[in-house]
Amino acid sequence: MKGTPFDFFIQFHLTERCNLSCRHCYQSAAVSEMNYEEICGAITAVNRTVQGWAVDHDVDVSPSLHFSGGEPLVRQDLSAVLGYASGCGFSISLMTNGTLIDEAAARRIGNAKVTDVQISLDGTEDTHDSLRGRGAYRRALDGIRNLVAEGVEANLNVTVTRRNMTQTGELIRVAQELGASGIAFSRLVPSGRGKALMDEALTRDEVARFYGELRQHKSSSSIAVSSRDPLATVADIDVDVPQTELPVGGCAAGIFGVTITSDGTIMPCRRMDLPIGNIKHDSLRELWIESPVLGSLRTRESYHDGCQSCSYWPVCRGCRAIALAYSRAEGNNDFLGPDPQCPYH
Ligand code: SF4
Ligand code: SF4
Repeated sequence: MKGTPFDFFIQFHLTERCNLSCRHCYQSAAVSEMNYEEICGAITAVNRTVQGWAVDHDVDVSPSLHFSGGEPLVRQDLSAVLGYASGCGFSISLMTNGTLIDEAAARRIGNAKVTDVQISLDGTEDTHDSLRGRGAYRRALDGIRNLVAEGVEANLNVTVTRRNMTQTGELIRVAQELGASGIAFSRLVPSGRGKALMDEALTRDEVARFYGELRQHKSSSSIAVSSRDPLATVADIDVDVPQTELPVGGCAAGIFGVTITSDGTIMPCRRMDLPIGNIKHDSLRELWIESPVLGSLRTRESYHDGCQSCSYWPVCRGCRAIALAYSRAEGNNDFLGPDPQCPYH
């Protein structure tokens, strides 16, 4: 409907290559990558889908592309890709480890009209370097400073584990001192190399404690403190949720966006490796309607043992990637079961 824009995003992995080898990374195997022409073709295909929705359904669509990796800055053609996407009318963000953003790179990013850059920071210096390698923390901070100096909006992303869950206040202070616009927290998804950190994933009680404390930080900090984790949304809710059979918030996978990986594979979410097609030869528009995986993510009856009967289902549904990762650890492949870290139902 006109006047209520549909915020639709694609998380677009330009490469699986990376200059670091982080212990909690969800990438686990080398994947081929599209060349510049193929990437532009994919962006054009997404744009065509979005334009088609706008015309056919008389809906305002606000489309964004979140470029990620691997490490997107290892691609020599990154500036050209950003320029092409921007020229197609997409709002653009860049997700990076920050270590390759020297002054020149920050200037190129600023010139490419990137809306915001999200830099991963996984704790104070010792904690961050224990996961990402010695020196990674200081190089990431240099990258953030370079972006801020260029007037580019920088936001920090923290993957929360037992290792860093007590460092929230300190990380918010670091973000403030750097001039970052905000800092966001999300749970570890124990898939890919991150499987090795399964023991560091938060328990239910720790999730409740962490998001309870985060709520207090949100109201007392001078920068934006947030989380895209559906359980963080639930932790902030003080009123009854209107009951609907349509998702209105929560897990974005297949509802507000999808992921395209470096070889063109389309998945509901990058942390949830369930391929539903490939942007090089499938129609995103048809997949969006016809994919059984996407359909089940949008249908309350498909869920079981927890979310299906939960009053928070319209605004939550847990993290489907975490549900899948725990199911796979038990030898199954179930992405619609309970979020094993949910303390709220
Ligand atoms: S049971 Fe599911 S929908 Fe309900 S709060 Fe937990 S994760 Fe969210
Ligand atoms: S599966 Fe998890 S990581 Fe992916 S969109 Fe949903 S909540 Fe976010």
